[in-house]
Amino acid sequence: MKIALDADGVLFDFQTSWRLCAEGVLGRALPLCGQHYDLGQRYGLKNAEVHKVWAVWNTTSGWLRAQPIESGMRAAHMALDLGHEVYVVTCLPNIRAAEERRRALDRWGLDKAALIPVYGASKLNALKTLRPHFYADDRAIHCREARDAMVPEIVRIHAWGPEQLPDGVCEYPDVGTALSDFLKRHAPLHVGPCNGNPYPGRASASGWPQLQATRETEGDV
Ligand SMILES: [Mg+2]
Repeated sequence: MKIALDADGVLFDFQTSWRLCAEGVLGRALPLCGQHYDLGQRYGLKNAEVHKVWAVWNTTSGWLRAQPIESGMRAAHMALDLGHEVYVVTCLPNIRAAEERRRALDRWGLDKAALIPVYGASKLNALKTLRPHFYADDRAIHCREARDAMVPEIVRIHAWGPEQLPDGVCEYPDVGTALSDFLKRHAPLHVGPCNGNPYPGRASASGWPQLQATRETEGDV
């Protein structure tokens, strides 16, 4: 089966990674100001500060250095190990970001997962072309696009805050649980525990300068 996954909020902990980058750039801790998707609102930043952080993120290989979400990585490895096709469908700003993301997937042992970068805000055409059997995303807008693309199983991963979900879209705390439930229903003979090291050949995660890497406690994401 074709398993399609978003990257940020599903495989990579973008929110925490960006916050750590921002704290290093701005030289102060950034407590959460609210469960907003918008980074400025989320951390109470001015537009100029957000732009400053993005500039550093882009020049320090932020897309490569983003921290993985262990449950997401484990789920992707499980799907590949079971013989399914895994596609990572992710919105990115440019080709350089896509190259970094490709290297990040390789770094965490997902070299057999196909990367489908989307240079824009909509994943609709990519999902229509791909026609996956399962799709997971942390944003309701992309879940809605998946529904419009007639994807039969769509899950929203609760990565950063609440959202109004389209009809037929279920919410899960992590993609591992969602994917296991899906495969049990549609490929029950092939589902089993994912044993052993889920990240063959994994690199060690690198923290952002000045601050130790820590995870947010708000429900990870
Ligand atoms: Mg996302």
